[in-house]
Amino acid sequence: MNFEELPDSVHAQELRDGVARLQFAGALESQYVAAHLQRVRVSVRVWFTIGIVVSLVYSVVQAIRTGIFSAGFAMEFLIVVPCAAVLAWLAWSGSYYDRYYMRVAPVLVTAKGAFAAYFIAQLIGKGYDEELGMLAIYVVAAFFFSGLLFRAAVTAAAAIVVSYAATALSFGLTSTLELKGFILLLVTTVMGTIVYRDVERSHRRSFLEGALISELVTRDGLTGLMNRRALDEQLPRLWFQAQRDHRALTLLMIDIDHFKSYNDSHGHQAGDVALRSVARLIREFTRRPLDIAARFGGEEFVVVFYDMTVQQSRETAERLRYAVQRAVSLKYRESEVPGVTISIGGGVVEPTVGRTLDGALQFADQALYRAKSSGRNCVVFAGSAEYQGVRTGFFKVPYNAA
Ligand code: GH3
Ligand code: MG
Ligand code: MG
Repeated sequence: MNFEELPDSVHAQELRDGVARLQFAGALESQYVAAHLQRVRVSVRVWFTIGIVVSLVYSVVQAIRTGIFSAGFAMEFLIVVPCAAVLAWLAWSGSYYDRYYMRVAPVLVTAKGAFAAYFIAQLIGKGYDEELGMLAIYVVAAFFFSGLLFRAAVTAAAAIVVSYAATALSFGLTSTLELKGFILLLVTTVMGTIVYRDVERSHRRSFLEGALISELVTRDGLTGLMNRRALDEQLPRLWFQAQRDHRALTLLMIDIDHFKSYNDSHGHQAGDVALRSVARLIREFTRRPLDIAARFGGEEFVVVFYDMTVQQSRETAERLRYAVQRAVSLKYRESEVPGVTISIGGGVVEPTVGRTLDGALQFADQALYRAKSSGRNCVVFAGSAEYQGVRTGFFKVPYNAA
C-alpha cells in the first residue's frame, strides 16, 4: 500500500515508521492500550484465577512436605497470592479493569515475581530442585499470562532474575543447582523477551492495519480528504454539536475554475494532479480538531469551520483562495503545467432550531454560484440579505445548480 497517499493518517505514519519502538505517539498509544486490555482480559482472568489456586495448593503441599514455614513461606501467602488476587479481581471487575489494570499490574506482577523468586531460591538452596520449573513458570507468566505490555513484562522478568540472584548470593547458596537455576532463569527471560517482542509487534501492526482500513473507508481515494459518505455522516453530528454549544458553523463550497477545459487542454491525469494539490492546500487550512475538509464530488470540496466569526471565515477563505492561485503551478512530466484557481462560496450559520443543514449547504452553494458569475477566482460570502434569512431561520435562497 502506498502510505504516501495518506499524509495526515497517524495509522499510516506509524506503519511507515515501523512498529519497532513498541510505543505509539500520543493518543494512539492509549487507544492501543485500550484494545490490548480488551484482547487480554479473558486470558488474564483465567490465568490469574488458576494461578491463585495452583499457588495456594502448591505452597501448602510444599510447606508440609519440606517443613519450611519460614518468612519466605509467609511472604508467599502475604504477598504473592494477594497480588495475584488483586489482579484477578481487577480483571473480573467492571470499569476498574480499564482504568487501573495497566497502572497496577506492572507493579504487582514485578513484586510478586520478585518475592516468589526469593522464596524459591531458598527452597532450591535446600535441595528442592523441582522448584527450578516453578521459577521458569513465573518468568513465562510475566510475559504471556499477565497481560503486560512488552516493557513492563521485561521489567517483571528481570526482577525475578535479580531477586533470585540476590537471594542466592545473600544466603551464600553457591551450589551448581543455584547456578543451573540462574542459567535457566536467564535463558527463559531472554527467550521470553525475543518472542514477546515479536508478539507485541504483530499485535501493534494488526491494530494499525485495522484502524487504517476503517480510515480508508472514510477517505476519498484520489485526494485523501474525507469522502462524501463520511461527510454525510459527520456533518449532521457537527451541526447538532454546534446547536448544543450555541456555536456557528462556517460552510465553504469550493469549486475549481474552468476545470473541464483544464482537463481538455492538459489531460485528465494533469487534472488529477491539480485536484490533489488543491486538496493538499485545503488540508493545511483545516487543521483544527473539529474542522472538516471533504471532497464533495468531482472538482468540488466542502470545508467546515467550527466556531469562527464571519470576519475570520472570510479571511481564511481568502487566504486559501490565494494559496491555490499562487502555489498550484504544478510539475507534470517535467514540464510545468499551469495552475488552477478556485472559487469559494461561504456562509456562517448558527444552527438554531428551524434551520436545516441542507439549507445551510444551499446557502453556501448560492454564494459559490455568485462567485462564479462574478468572474471566478474569488470568495463570496452570503450577503446581508441572506443573513436576514439566517437570523429568522428561514433559508429560502434562490438556488441554481447550473
Ligand atoms: P466552472 O468554472 O464553472 O466550475 O467550470 P468547470 O469546467 O470547472 O465546471 P464543470 O462542472 O463543467 O466541469 C467540471 C469538470 O471537472 C468536469 C470533469 O471532467 C472534471 N472532473 C471531475 N472529477 C474529476 C477527477 O476526478 N479528475 C479529473 N481530472 N477531472 C475531474
Ligand atoms: Mg463543479
Ligand atoms: Mg469547476
